[in-house]
Amino acid sequence: MPSACDSLIEDIEDMVSSTDPTPNERQSARKSIVPRSRKKNESLINEELQADSLIPGTQKIWMKTWGCSHNNSDGEYMAGQLAASGYKMTDDPTDADLWVLNSCTVKNPAEDHFRNSINRKETKTFSAYTVQQIDRVVEVVDEAVKGHSVRLLGQKKDGGRRLGGARLDLPKIRKNPLIEIISINTGCLNACTYCKTKHARGDLASYPIEELVERARQSFQEGVCEIWLTSEDTGAYGRDIGTDLPTLLWRLVEEIPEGAMLRLGMTNPPYILEHLEEMAKILNHPRVYAFLHVPVQSASDSVLMDMKREYCIDDFKKVVDFLKERVPGVTIATDLICGFPGETEEDFQETINMVKLYRFPSLFINQFYPRPGTPAAKMEQVPAHVKKQRTKELSQLFHSYNPYDHKVGERQHVLVTEESFDAQYYVSHNKFYEQVLVPKRAEFKGKMIEVDIYEAGKHFLKGRPVEESKPFTPSIAAPLRKGEVSGLMQVNTHTNTCTPAYRYI
Ligand code: SF4
Repeated sequence: MPSACDSLIEDIEDMVSSTDPTPNERQSARKSIVPRSRKKNESLINEELQADSLIPGTQKIWMKTWGCSHNNSDGEYMAGQLAASGYKMTDDPTDADLWVLNSCTVKNPAEDHFRNSINRKETKTFSAYTVQQIDRVVEVVDEAVKGHSVRLLGQKKDGGRRLGGARLDLPKIRKNPLIEIISINTGCLNACTYCKTKHARGDLASYPIEELVERARQSFQEGVCEIWLTSEDTGAYGRDIGTDLPTLLWRLVEEIPEGAMLRLGMTNPPYILEHLEEMAKILNHPRVYAFLHVPVQSASDSVLMDMKREYCIDDFKKVVDFLKERVPGVTIATDLICGFPGETEEDFQETINMVKLYRFPSLFINQFYPRPGTPAAKMEQVPAHVKKQRTKELSQLFHSYNPYDHKVGERQHVLVTEESFDAQYYVSHNKFYEQVLVPKRAEFKGKMIEVDIYEAGKHFLKGRPVEESKPFTPSIAAPLRKGEVSGLMQVNTHTNTCTPAYRYI
């Protein structure tokens, strides 16, 4: 019968760095220790005081997250577990005893920020662990507090089956108390040749529908008014556990109170193709944003084949055309990679023509950057100046049209969820998840309000509140305070959480 700590013992080698003593060395060192009484003097008192300051769970932590909404969701869970264990989270990096940096290696900018931050901090110890281990953040930080380097780089398994991400009922601190980010699955079914995410997240592992519904229910009870679903490929959700995305979505919409909204996450074209009819119905639901992020990456079939994207451009067009026809006004956002290995001028022109055809209101343009260890890094590269030129040309095309001009004069309902970057406005979104800036009035936060659109920019609309219309409060509780831990009732105490880790020290 395996003991309760077998799973931890399995990767004990991950808990210490190569320079730390081995368990055998520790044991034999202990044998040579002769206990003796010491006279309490001033230096000992100082020593004890110092030791007190190293009690894990009493320090201030600054945490920074880069990357996609899945990474942000991981970051929220990490912050929640640390706070629930007694650590104090601070917004000021200079005030912190420890930094927890949560980055992804998928995109160069995120990784660069991460490296720069590490270089800025004079570290005595450096610990690392993977997305598979975010429920062990407290152990890692406890060890770091004691000056130990920790590496938790293995994969989590249960009876040989790889497990997905963290448990959904772990405590978390929402970056925005009004928005709950739920990762519905981790990993995907593809093996795109440029991708690093797959190395970190692995194969598809979906959360059961009941757990996801419960998470949504709990967030509405905690005053959330907007839910974002996220994953590497939401379209593939459920294929590993015998269900599918529409089944999950129909269950979730039953839980959404009036005045609250659900935003769907990124989906690749292949799996969503099978569910287009149902997806159109769901996107037309009044409490679901008519918004879908479908990354196409290139409009050239030969490039898509080299990327191993598992669809051709006609598949993507079928998804877009179908949804545009069945969901009036739907917003389709997409991603494009410029200068993938082997991309010819003709391939690139196909991409340009597709952007001219669809005039995507939201477009993420990435210059190709080879990620070490990926098949694409070994392919013959497009010269840097060509990649740069194509990225520039595509960006210019994107900035040459204004997708929102025709909306000026419309009356819309919008849900207000946050403050704008310049702190001048509140940010809200209309049914099509278009960003609408509204006046910063406290009574609007977390409410559905009615506005008249009076101005349109490249990425936003501006709305004037309709005076005779009252803000609509979703039938949900008051939101948690910023920094307050969600789901705290279900967490172990600090001592319990940490007990297994101490067994190995
Ligand atoms: S779908 Fe492709 S790009 Fe996305 S995570 Fe999977 S392998 Fe990576």
